[in-house]
Amino acid sequence: MQDCIFCKIAKGEIPSQKVYEDDLLFAFKDISPMAPVHILIIPKTHYRSLNEVPTNEMHLLGTMVEIARKLAWEQGLKEKGYRLALNTEQEGGQSVYHLHLHLLGGRQLGPSLVG
Ligand code: 5GP
Ligand code: ZN
Repeated sequence: MQDCIFCKIAKGEIPSQKVYEDDLLFAFKDISPMAPVHILIIPKTHYRSLNEVPTNEMHLLGTMVEIARKLAWEQGLKEKGYRLALNTEQEGGQSVYHLHLHLLGGRQLGPSLVG
């Protein structure tokens, strides 16, 4: 989608610190990390938010979680633990309107999900 910053990152039109890429997905380091490991996993297809993913495409979310888990393991977080977050629309804290999954870890994360 034109003017979408994450579409541009996935196409390499805006630089990012890429950590993974395949036909469907792209993953890169968050520009403003909230933990030692803070990676964003995005589909190459533009969906504004989770709300826009058609029911018959929901397997995409499983693939995103699978890759997030693989990256967490690669970062040495398998035993220590990590968090996945999927902020959706305004009150869900979404600020970039291209579906993305946050992978956070590398420090003790707080108990609050709503801080
Ligand atoms: P949200 O708040 O929508 O769940 O998460 C958006 C995330 O994208 C934020 O954590 C923010 O730091 C990150 N972000 C925004 N713009 C850029 C960018 O241009 N490059 C990278 N690497 N991350 C970005
Ligand atoms: Zn996009």
